[in-house]
Amino acid sequence: MQKLIDKAKIEHTLSKSEIIAILKDNSINDYLFKTADEIRKNYTGDEVYLRALIEFSNICRCDCKYCGIRRDNKNVSRYRLEKDEILKLADFAVQSGYKTIVLQSGEDMFFSAEYLAEIIKEIKQNDVAVTLSIGERTFEEYKILKDAGADRFLLRIETTDENLYGQMHPQMSLANRKQCLFNLKKLGYETGTGSLVGLPGQTLESLADDILFYKELDADMIGIGPLIVHPETPLKDEKNGDLILAIKVLALTRLLLPDINIPATTAMETLHREGRIWALKAGANVIMPNVTFENCKKNYEIYPNKVSVDYESLKTDLAKIGRTISSKKGFRGNPDNSGRFNSSPAGRGKLTRCKNTEKEYDSFGS
Ligand code: SF4
Repeated sequence: MQKLIDKAKIEHTLSKSEIIAILKDNSINDYLFKTADEIRKNYTGDEVYLRALIEFSNICRCDCKYCGIRRDNKNVSRYRLEKDEILKLADFAVQSGYKTIVLQSGEDMFFSAEYLAEIIKEIKQNDVAVTLSIGERTFEEYKILKDAGADRFLLRIETTDENLYGQMHPQMSLANRKQCLFNLKKLGYETGTGSLVGLPGQTLESLADDILFYKELDADMIGIGPLIVHPETPLKDEKNGDLILAIKVLALTRLLLPDINIPATTAMETLHREGRIWALKAGANVIMPNVTFENCKKNYEIYPNKVSVDYESLKTDLAKIGRTISSKKGFRGNPDNSGRFNSSPAGRGKLTRCKNTEKEYDSFGS
C-alpha cells in the first residue's frame, strides 16, 4: 500500500481500485496523511489562507435531506441581508485584512444575478478576491457574475453516486450539478466542489468516484465535510460521518490534485476538537472564518453545533504545527498578491443589525 501512495506522490494518479484499497486500509493512515502533508508543503507552502465567509441569506428553494436550512424545515428563522449589510460585512472583512470574501447563501432567487453583480462590483473596488457559493444558476447568470468580477465559485457535488444524489436532493439532478460545474470552469472561475462523507448508503466505491470526478473536472478547490446529522431533517436518526474517513478522502484528493486549495472544514472541528488541525496536517491549507452577524449565524445552521474560529487560538494552533496565516489571496498555483493580515484583527467594535437587532460583533466568528 505504501508503494501505491509513493506512486501517487510522484504521478498524481490512482485508479479507482487503488483509491478503494487505500480507503479500506486503516493501517496506512499515518503514512497517507504524512505524504499528503508533504505534497501540500511542496506545492502550496506553509501559509494557511483565510477566507471571510458571509452568509447573506438562509432562504433556499431546495430541500436537501441533510441540510438544516432546507426549504421544508419550518423551524428556522429565515433572514436575508440587505445590500448595505452585506457591504458592511465585506468592508469589515477587508479592514481586518482578509483577501478573499466568500458570499454564501441558500438558493435564494431574490438575489438575481444583476443584483449580486452590483454587490460584487462594489466589493471588488477593494483589493480582494470574491468567491460565490449560491448554488445552481444558468450559464448566463454565472457569466453576469463573472463579468462583475467574481473570481471563484463553490458548488459541492456532495456525491457522484446518481441514485444517492437523487435520494438526497429532491427535484435536483446530478447531471445538472455537473453541468453547472463545467460551466463555471468554462467561464474561468476558480471552481470548487467537494463531498459529504457519511451519507446513508454511501460506499467507498462512490467516494473513489467522487475523487476521480474532482480530477476529471480539474477542480481548483475541494471541500470535504463529514456528515453531521441535523435533528430537523429526514436524516435525524442517522449516524454522523466518519471523521477519519473524511480526512482520508481529503488526503487522497491532495495526492491527485497537488496544487489546489483545500479547506479544513468547520464540520471536521465540530466532530472533534482536533479535527481542523488533523485536516491541516493531512493536506488542507485553507480556513474559512465566518464573519456574518452573530444573530444571523445561529440561523444558518446547515448542521448543528458549529464551532467558532478564534483568531488568537488559531494563530497559536497553527504555530504549533509550523504554519502561519497568509496575507495573500491564494489563487491556485499562484499564491500571489500582497496584503497584510492585521495581527490584531479589527472589528471588535460596533455592530450591527440584522432584522433590527444590534449585537456586539467580534471579528472572527465561527
Ligand atoms: S444544502 Fe444548500 S441547496 Fe441544499 S437545502 Fe441546504 S442551503 Fe439549500
